[in-house]
Amino acid sequence: MAGIYIHIPFCRRRCGYCDFNTYAGFSHAIPAYVKALCREIESVASSQKDNSPIQTIFFGGGTPSLLNIQQFGEIFQHLHDSFDIAKGAEISLEANPGTVNQEYLAQLHQLGFTRISFGMQSTHPQDLAVLDRQHQFSDVVNAVAWSQLTGFSHINLDLIFGIPGQSLSRWQETLHLAAGFKVDHLSLYALTIEEGTPLALWNKKGMLEIVDDDLSAEMYQTATDQLRLAGFEQYEISNWAKKRADGLDARCRHNLNTWRYQPYFGFGAGAHGFIGHTRTANVEPIPVYLTRMQDPIGAWPAAEEVEELTLWEEMQEWMMVGLRLTNEGISQQVFLDRFGIPCEAVFAKQLNKCIHAGLLEKMGDQQDRLRLTPRGRLLGNQVFMEFVGNDPPGELNLDQ
Ligand code: SF4
Repeated sequence: MAGIYIHIPFCRRRCGYCDFNTYAGFSHAIPAYVKALCREIESVASSQKDNSPIQTIFFGGGTPSLLNIQQFGEIFQHLHDSFDIAKGAEISLEANPGTVNQEYLAQLHQLGFTRISFGMQSTHPQDLAVLDRQHQFSDVVNAVAWSQLTGFSHINLDLIFGIPGQSLSRWQETLHLAAGFKVDHLSLYALTIEEGTPLALWNKKGMLEIVDDDLSAEMYQTATDQLRLAGFEQYEISNWAKKRADGLDARCRHNLNTWRYQPYFGFGAGAHGFIGHTRTANVEPIPVYLTRMQDPIGAWPAAEEVEELTLWEEMQEWMMVGLRLTNEGISQQVFLDRFGIPCEAVFAKQLNKCIHAGLLEKMGDQQDRLRLTPRGRLLGNQVFMEFVGNDPPGELNLDQ
């Protein structure tokens, strides 16, 4: 199950809390960037021995919806020419609510996009102002309605909680309205104030009414309860999928594959990939990326980092990402099949500690699966950190 992630690092304006690899005032570079992307796609594909079908493609950003239909058409053409794209592949687009109209969405759907994700963040103008977002709630209302009208049956909304000044009741109102849109997926993120952002500066100046950890935890718990009542099932720490009457699976297949530790290519400035045992990280600045792609050289022509993971590193990562899946968790049998050694032999100390502390539980008929308990979900980072940064158990020779 391989996927492709394509990074589109352009935004009309930077939001005050954002530290993603994205640039405002660079829209003039979009045509050259699309050409560069196509060259990277061709170049990387031609160096691959394994031509497994691509099951998912995800355009993230930045604001991918700043590209026009012709530009997406050009990228699609190169993807189809270079890779075996599986029939029924999930093709997702991240979009900003204020950047789409009905005609554009219809064209995206016709081109082959199967899923769209909007950065809604909050319904409340005060929250949107603190986040320094450009869109209004009415833009979300229109974007969702147009998406539904033009045939998108998989629609996600991103929401943020813990916004300075946000009350519990205001967060509940956002959840209520988001669930009421009849979308089939919601992603919920706790706001973090990142160094170097305008939000961090406002915070240093004492201009923000910070939400404390207790209220933030209460907001998360509230979301869990409220969304369950609204027919959503939590399947990952930050992700909820609607139980659909038509039986379609609303979970994001692309991200699901990442948490299941499946391979994916990363194309574009700052994109990350994981193929075989290799992790790649592309150069971030757009001009550097464009220069590299004028004459792509080597298997990973845009990468500034190419890292071969050891077996031990893979085992640690596998645990860390797999435990994010709150329902299915990890399968000890799959671990054994993949790494040739029982999970409990490698992580005995960590597993015992987390199970004993009520953070992890065994489940299934064979007690094969391990997943976070409700308490473990609240303390997820604490659990994940147990599995990284350690030396392998001394008695095991994992240095391969
Ligand atoms: S739209 Fe998204 S990627 Fe762009 S600046 Fe705002 S938060 Fe960052």
